[in-house]
Amino acid sequence: MAIEIFDAVIYLPIIVICMVIGQIYFEQYLASFKNQRSANFILTIVIVVTYLIQEFCLLQISLVNIRDAAFIMVLPVTMLFRNSHNKTWWWLLAITPILANLYVAYIKLSSFNDWGIWIAQSAIFFLVCLGLINKKHLSLRIRYTMAIAGLGIVELLYLTLLNQFRPASIIASTAGLGVFLILEGQRYAVEMKKDQKLKLLQNESERDDLTGLLNYRALSQEIENLTKRKEIHNIVIGGLDIDHFKAINDRYGHFVGNEVLNRFSTTLRDRIHSEFPNHGYVYRFGGEEFSIVVTNHSISEVHAVLQSVEHQFVQHPIVTTEGDHISLSFSAGLTNHLNGEVLDNTLKRADRMLYSVKNNGRGWIITDHHHKLEAVE
Ligand code: GH3
Ligand code: MG
Ligand code: MG
Repeated sequence: MAIEIFDAVIYLPIIVICMVIGQIYFEQYLASFKNQRSANFILTIVIVVTYLIQEFCLLQISLVNIRDAAFIMVLPVTMLFRNSHNKTWWWLLAITPILANLYVAYIKLSSFNDWGIWIAQSAIFFLVCLGLINKKHLSLRIRYTMAIAGLGIVELLYLTLLNQFRPASIIASTAGLGVFLILEGQRYAVEMKKDQKLKLLQNESERDDLTGLLNYRALSQEIENLTKRKEIHNIVIGGLDIDHFKAINDRYGHFVGNEVLNRFSTTLRDRIHSEFPNHGYVYRFGGEEFSIVVTNHSISEVHAVLQSVEHQFVQHPIVTTEGDHISLSFSAGLTNHLNGEVLDNTLKRADRMLYSVKNNGRGWIITDHHHKLEAVE
């Protein structure tokens, strides 16, 4: 008994150190060195070696205490569910029962003749995990729980087949798997909360408080993402500026000015979203200036929609909560984002075009081809 406790005292810290250093940190490094072959190779070796040390310690603890190779699959399965894209873990999952049973046979606890059962165990579990990992409609936590429960069932079947169905083995395996489930379950819960918080913060940092529109930060992020997507072959970028907005502030006050900005933003966003579903985005560039981005539609389609929005504001004044009727016009420049062009250059071009409208009467929209299109009366 003293020896068993002594063993656990030695092996447990090694397992924990391996898990933390080897599996969690190196796992992350592997993701960041994806495209560097030699770094990738070295990191994979490190992961495999720490995994082998870990599994050896787990085997020692379970063999000393219950004379059975329990929990051997828990680590690769757990790591697989943490990072399903990593091929290393799929291989480690497949070879784990074979390695463990080879060792058990080597120390004469079982027979080499059982190799067929080891391979069947590997194959069953490989397939179960493959199926569960791809069932994306279930939460990761549920899928992991199902995998671990499956692990318990496979383990019980295995013990039955080998006539080793002893109470100590059953209780130890079930309790051991239960501990893993509880610990991982808590980790999932903490991680999910962290993810939600992060998403909320990211959302807040990309939204403008007054209008609820996306801001410049979101715009640069979105353009970067759009240029990487293969199905996008055309990006129209527009710069818009409300005409004589200062006069509205001066006449009606800043609060009414805010309300007008809000109503303008909502109308512009709703029109762009409904005319170009999943292809139209509206951002508040700053002050009373806005940017729009429309993908896979021609500049003349975007021009037509903006012109109809312009008509709407001119012909239907905004009625504020204080009952003021305020009609608006805006000036705009529309240009195509050129292949490989830095976003700032596209925006600068749209801005130059916009200011040429400001210097030529306001209230109309200029396109890339510098056609002066019908001004709104
Ligand atoms: P132009 O036709 O040349 O664009 O004239 P403008 O008056 O619209 O432009 P200008 O740049 O002279 O003034 C913009 C005004 O927009 C000044 C600023 O006080 C106002 N503004 C900017 N941000 C806000 C805001 O968040 N709320 C309110 N109420 N006003 C704002
Ligand atoms: Mg203005
Ligand atoms: Mg302005």
